Amino acid sequence: MRVLENLEPKKVFQFFEDITQIPHGSYNEKAISDYCVKFAKDRGLEVEQDDLYDVIIKCPATPGYENVPGVILQGHLDMVNEKEDTCTIDMDKEGLQLEIVGDNVTAKGTTLGGDDGIAIAYALAIMDSDDIPHPSIEAVFTVSEETGMEGASHIDLSGLKNRRMLNMDSEDEGIFLTSCAGGGRVDSKLEIKRETKSGVAVHVDLKGFTGGHSGIQIILGGANANIMAGRVAAAVTEKTGAALIGMKGGSKDNAIPRASELDFIVPADQISDFRAAAEAEAEKIKDEFSVQDPSFNIVITEKGESSAEVLTAESLDSALSLLFALPNGVQAMSADVENMVETSLNLGVMGTEEKFVHYRYAVRSSVNSAKEFLIGRMKRIIEHEGAEYSFEGAYPAWEYRKDSKLRDDMVRIWTEMYGKTPIVQGIHAGVECGLFSDKLDGIDAVSFGPQMSGVHTPEETLSISSTKRVWDFILKVLAVKD
Ligand SMILES: [Zn+2]
Repeated sequence: MRVLENLEPKKVFQFFEDITQIPHGSYNEKAISDYCVKFAKDRGLEVEQDDLYDVIIKCPATPGYENVPGVILQGHLDMVNEKEDTCTIDMDKEGLQLEIVGDNVTAKGTTLGGDDGIAIAYALAIMDSDDIPHPSIEAVFTVSEETGMEGASHIDLSGLKNRRMLNMDSEDEGIFLTSCAGGGRVDSKLEIKRETKSGVAVHVDLKGFTGGHSGIQIILGGANANIMAGRVAAAVTEKTGAALIGMKGGSKDNAIPRASELDFIVPADQISDFRAAAEAEAEKIKDEFSVQDPSFNIVITEKGESSAEVLTAESLDSALSLLFALPNGVQAMSADVENMVETSLNLGVMGTEEKFVHYRYAVRSSVNSAKEFLIGRMKRIIEHEGAEYSFEGAYPAWEYRKDSKLRDDMVRIWTEMYGKTPIVQGIHAGVECGLFSDKLDGIDAVSFGPQMSGVHTPEETLSISSTKRVWDFILKVLAVKD
């Protein structure tokens, strides 16, 4: 007996349950992709599958809707496979064990894949029906969204005719996303010179910063561990004869670093001055960031007499000047969307090698021209300091449309149905709509979905009543004729 058999909307939960029985973690999407292809073929619908297993299904308009602009129904095929330590399910090979708990569907011990299986289920249920009025549909199901949106970057959309897109990959009912950031990675590589110095080797750890995702937590204005380490390095080298061996912190450009470390050679008779200077700077940082980073602390460890290759005074000066000249954090807030960061950057990774100091930044903006200006500004600063600049991993922004008929229709319909105006938001991180808007000129898209919680964790839930409300809403949006 099927677990979700008695839930409404019946077809949506029927397809959703099918999907949960086909393993479909990122990079393991062939089976789920083939299932969608078979769905289309069984119903005589036009279907394409590309070499990464992205799928496009085309479903003609129902009678009376032939002249209404068509829609794109979009979601991603892959899910994040996470399970509890005690769970024995092999998520690469076995289906999930569904459960109904109150108003929620969950999977025992694993992620559920409501993100984004529900989008696929909605789209299949619509295309399967004989009695849902709709304009022409192009359903686009992408792979590997969770790992870096590889499917959306790879897929060929040149055959699509429709320009209104319902992206069903948001998990807060009543919130409509209408823009996202674009971005990329800026690297600066500064050549350094070294000289031999003897004294006491001292290691300094700056730890306990709050950190977070550079698209989401950057708005909180917390300290960046790498920049704070630079401040400590500047303080101790200005006030004592300490020389820097290296500084490093962070491992991902899109994570705000939580810790950073420094190594020095300090003249033996200046150890207490060194400590005093480092601790005084740390106190200032603590005061400045007492709200955002209450757990910050500094640990200074002496490692005995030693000699090492340290940065020359000139190289240290260039390294710190570059670090302090480059901007960091929130650069602009959105004027269109309340409380959303428009442009930001994060020094995610700092490192020192024998001949180089390098800084790596994640740059984001929901306005492409603002992003380009910021990157251009960084390039000038980096090259002015004599360092090497590079830019990689670009992904496009989904810019807010000042005029959006789709958004206006959806806000009106939701308000009429549920008596509450939905919240229109943007997100300061990348979503697939950015790649779609880059490929489809004039696209008008909104991202939304039913209520979920704990996505990407074994606690993931999908609300049954919300799934029904959002379904009824989608049908009303599809029925719009003018
Ligand atoms: Zn998703």
